[in-house]
Amino acid sequence: MERIRFVLCRPSHPGNIGAAARAMKAMGLADLRLVAPERYPAHEAYWMATGAADVLDRARVHAALREAIADCAAAFALSARPREWSPQVLDARAAAVRALALDAPVAFVFGAEAAGLTNEELFACQYLVHIPASPEFSSLNLAQAVQVVAYELLVASGAGVPPARAGKLATIADIEGLYAHLEQAALASGFLAPESGSRLRERWRRLFSRVPALEREEVNILRGLLKALLAKQSGE
Ligand code: SAH
Repeated sequence: MERIRFVLCRPSHPGNIGAAARAMKAMGLADLRLVAPERYPAHEAYWMATGAADVLDRARVHAALREAIADCAAAFALSARPREWSPQVLDARAAAVRALALDAPVAFVFGAEAAGLTNEELFACQYLVHIPASPEFSSLNLAQAVQVVAYELLVASGAGVPPARAGKLATIADIEGLYAHLEQAALASGFLAPESGSRLRERWRRLFSRVPALEREEVNILRGLLKALLAKQSGE
């Protein structure tokens, strides 16, 4: 994620710059570039950035898009409108995956609020990225478009997946121990007749095979219960 850069071309509202900085920071992104912003620095930017003022402080201002992306391996242009002529088109999700697969700095380039990106800016990029939206009104607010792309990058980076549970996984030997214990309890209780030819054993193997990542402690709970039931039964 450190290699991902967001470039805002000629943004007219400083509030959108601040909201974009906040959207980026909340998704773990920090490299913001501004190309010829209409009004910047500005108080409104800081008001909207709230806790992401550091992203604004570090934002670099460039005179032209080419300068802001010169050292990148690829640039992804965001446009609400499909264009008759354009570089390769991707949706935001596919673009995030593609960008992270490149082991080099990459830029996501956003247009100005009113007019979007010029054709020249579009063709300075290698990809055209579309955020799926209503065909009747497909134009998102600039900072909200930044949020969607930043979110897709976070998810594609794998950081959005909650950490694996702490529990130690059961081994095959643990699970075989459970099956043996189930069989013992089934026979002792008369639930399963010794020569019945029932498919009971296959059935519980099938059942437990559908439980992903069974934990050792979970197997031990079931075995503890079986043990208590068996002890009660033999005491009666
Ligand atoms: N009226 C402009 C839209 C500007 S919205 C136009 O028609 O192009 C400001 C910027 O947000 C756009 O330049 C683009 O970079 C981004 N954006 C807004 N909606 C988008 C969408 N559905 N898909 C991709 N980018 C979008």
